[in-house]
Amino acid sequence: MSTARDLAAHLRYLRDLGVDGVSADRAWRVRATAPEAAEAPKVAGEADAPEALPGFIRLTEIRAELGECQRCKLHTGRTNIVFGVGNPDARLMFVGEGPGADEDEKGEPFVGRAGQLLTQIIKAMGLERDDVYIANVVKCRPPGNRNPEPDEIDACSPFLQAQITSIRPTVIVALGKFAAQTLLKTETPISRLRGQFHLRDGIAVMPTFHPSYLLRNPAAKREVWEDMKMVMKKLTIDD
Ligand code: URA
Repeated sequence: MSTARDLAAHLRYLRDLGVDGVSADRAWRVRATAPEAAEAPKVAGEADAPEALPGFIRLTEIRAELGECQRCKLHTGRTNIVFGVGNPDARLMFVGEGPGADEDEKGEPFVGRAGQLLTQIIKAMGLERDDVYIANVVKCRPPGNRNPEPDEIDACSPFLQAQITSIRPTVIVALGKFAAQTLLKTETPISRLRGQFHLRDGIAVMPTFHPSYLLRNPAAKREVWEDMKMVMKKLTIDD
């Protein structure tokens, strides 16, 4: 059994005990062992249906299913699978293209220069990275940062779809042409897709320019900010 599967099994066990969250924070351990926490379990654990599981367990199970993935050729060049990070119950999800060198090294999406810019955008929206969920179309670094190929996207898509289904965000921001065209199954250029919401399985998708593009074309930050204002408004309206 893999470590991820062991962890998923352990989390199910905790869920059945009535634990509805885990944290490395010492203060949480004190709270979690307080008598009232033990007496008032929030999760009954009466069903094994995915929707009955807390978000963090669902995501852990999806990660366990992914395993040490060898479903496409990208696995040969990767250092780490970059699964996704953030709030399992986020109302806002960002989807990028695929990990670059920094992300491959750290196993976390958007931690390089483009990632720092994305973090600034998130903060400008009044949020922290931990408030949102961040993932990519493909979870392994394409060599030389080339675009992911159709067979690689096909192999990885069920896992992105499972993440989206699990998180059920109100809004997905598709970062760049690749994420937008993949999520919306279209060939329309990003310049025409951005600036308005598109529905995907009932979820509002806002395509916008990729942070890497903004590093090369800082003037486009203005348009991205217009898009993010629409996102913020939608999150407020659908509160
Ligand atoms: N670009 C992406 O599309 N995703 C990352 O995680 C980093 C850079």
